[in-house]
Amino acid sequence: YLDYNATTPLRPGVRDVLIDALDQFGNPSSVHAEGRTARSYVSKAKTQVAKLVGGSANDIVFCSSATEALNMVVQSNWDSVITLQTEHAAVLSPAKTYDTANLSIEVTNDGIIDLEALPSVIDTARMFGPRVLVCVQAANNETGVLQPVADVVEICRAAGASVLTDAVQVAGKLPIDVTTLGVDYAVISAHKLGGPKGVGALWVRPGLSATPLITGGGQEKGLRGGTENVASIAAFGFAAECAVKSLETEPADSQVTKEFERRLVEVSPDCVVIGRNAPRLPNTTSIAMPGRGAETLVIALDLAGFAVSAGAACSSGKVSRSHVIEAMGLGEELSASAIRISRGWETTQDDLDRFVEIWARTVKPSNGLRHVA
Ligand code: PLP
Repeated sequence: YLDYNATTPLRPGVRDVLIDALDQFGNPSSVHAEGRTARSYVSKAKTQVAKLVGGSANDIVFCSSATEALNMVVQSNWDSVITLQTEHAAVLSPAKTYDTANLSIEVTNDGIIDLEALPSVIDTARMFGPRVLVCVQAANNETGVLQPVADVVEICRAAGASVLTDAVQVAGKLPIDVTTLGVDYAVISAHKLGGPKGVGALWVRPGLSATPLITGGGQEKGLRGGTENVASIAAFGFAAECAVKSLETEPADSQVTKEFERRLVEVSPDCVVIGRNAPRLPNTTSIAMPGRGAETLVIALDLAGFAVSAGAACSSGKVSRSHVIEAMGLGEELSASAIRISRGWETTQDDLDRFVEIWARTVKPSNGLRHVA
């Protein structure tokens, strides 16, 4: 399984926490003992999640997914929203509702934000009004390219713009501290770091707020109505705690990825490692084989026993050209042929060795798998 950026297996122990919390059936809003027990599970999870992102438990809001949390922040009645062209659809799609007040910012060939252009894009955005939101992902899900979020914040502070960072892919893979970064909003997702699917968290800088997408019983300080999903939240908290520990004791080694990529290029010199000169997540390789369709490669690799993704896996089984690689200006051929290999805590060196062997066989010119555009 080499698709950790799509979703991860549960970390050891998370299942037990999930099952135990399912038995705590109380409603966290109830004042009786059962309710207080459920509330204590949610509170503990807030502390655990806050520790992973560097904020305080009070400022964590649980949602049904990172997608929901990102939608909530983006749709919080800004005058304009600036999005990096390589953002996830969970940011790009709600930003489109701003129509002409949705401005975009370009990335370089290596996928890094064009910092020099940012002040003038913010200036243009301010023509729509003073409330400007800049969305900058901490790490890209397809390429693993890391953005200089602290530098973005510095520019935005000077220009009076707010900053949302999609930290879904970085959380658990590299240390992150929202307070040091200086962002206003940060979002993470449980299932990308060893927790269950269907639960995400938003961190909101103290003193700021957002416009809830779902209103009702005033849960989550009024930011997210609906009785909390206590079991998934508890499991998320435990997964976050495990992630903190493994970042301290066994951080992913980017040298392993570098060596893996070197060997891939050695056995198939025509392939291109996307974002190879940029700082990247230690677990992610995006590789394109010109002339080969990503979908064909993914199917061939699946038949050989390897789970990898083409472009973003989140798009309901749809394999289209990667908007991320297109935004990097790398052309249609590369954007149609890039696949993502993302490893995690269950990946062994043997898995990578076998992958290199299978890759060499799969992309060999004589195997007849041609890309039809
Ligand atoms: N942002 C990024 C960078 C992602 O990779 C994903 C998931 O693929 C999301 C947001 C959405 O997360 P969720 O599945 O929790 O809605």
